[in-house]
Amino acid sequence: MSIQQNLLQIKSLLPSNVTLVAVSKTKPVEDLMEAYNAGQRIFGENKIQEMTEKWQQMPKDIEWHMIGHVQSNKVKYMVPYVKLIHGVDSLKLLKEINRQAARWRKNINCLLQIHIAEEETKFGLDENELIELLNSDEFKEMSNVKVIGLMGMATFTENQEQIKKEFDNLKSIFDKSKKLKTENCQLNTLSMGMSGDYQLAIDCGSTMVRIGSSIFGSR
Ligand SMILES: *Cc1c(COP(=O)(O)O)cnc(C)c1O
Repeated sequence: MSIQQNLLQIKSLLPSNVTLVAVSKTKPVEDLMEAYNAGQRIFGENKIQEMTEKWQQMPKDIEWHMIGHVQSNKVKYMVPYVKLIHGVDSLKLLKEINRQAARWRKNINCLLQIHIAEEETKFGLDENELIELLNSDEFKEMSNVKVIGLMGMATFTENQEQIKKEFDNLKSIFDKSKKLKTENCQLNTLSMGMSGDYQLAIDCGSTMVRIGSSIFGSR
């Protein structure tokens, strides 16, 4: 099937409250344009250099999401155009995003990444670190970032029950921390689910899925 057909089929299966991020990392601009021409306006990339090049070449009504791990020293390069940063996993990084956003007089939306997988390698905060961060005075004083939700990645496994357990865990952390509403924190987005597990993620309460290979083919 073509990129357009893949995209339209996936979209037809998504509930209306679930946002689709088309993960276009490693794919050429022609492929992104095919998705764009089929109506897709939200694209996810995981490398700043690649995102910048594609941003320059693509129409300007696209929302660019940074879905990969972000290094503090790279933040300044994406602040001019990034719409949402999914993988924020420390107060230090949030501080740098706030600092760079202030220089551009912008407000940057962020998701805090929660560690839900068994693998040690996946980035993210645990529940206590999340609560601590959201309650810290340092965070409350940041006026150029807004935390609008949480993001997580399940363990890379075929075991559906394991994945479901991890998604349920993230959803429960999301529901609990929703109560911590402040000026720059209002959790309404739950980014979980990729090509292999997005249907399960939606059943578990996801409101944003990040889908790459099922749209653009394998990488
Ligand atoms: C690559 C990537 C995806 C998309 O993965 P697919 O399996 O191709 O859908 C989603 N989220 C993150 C964080 C990624 O790095």
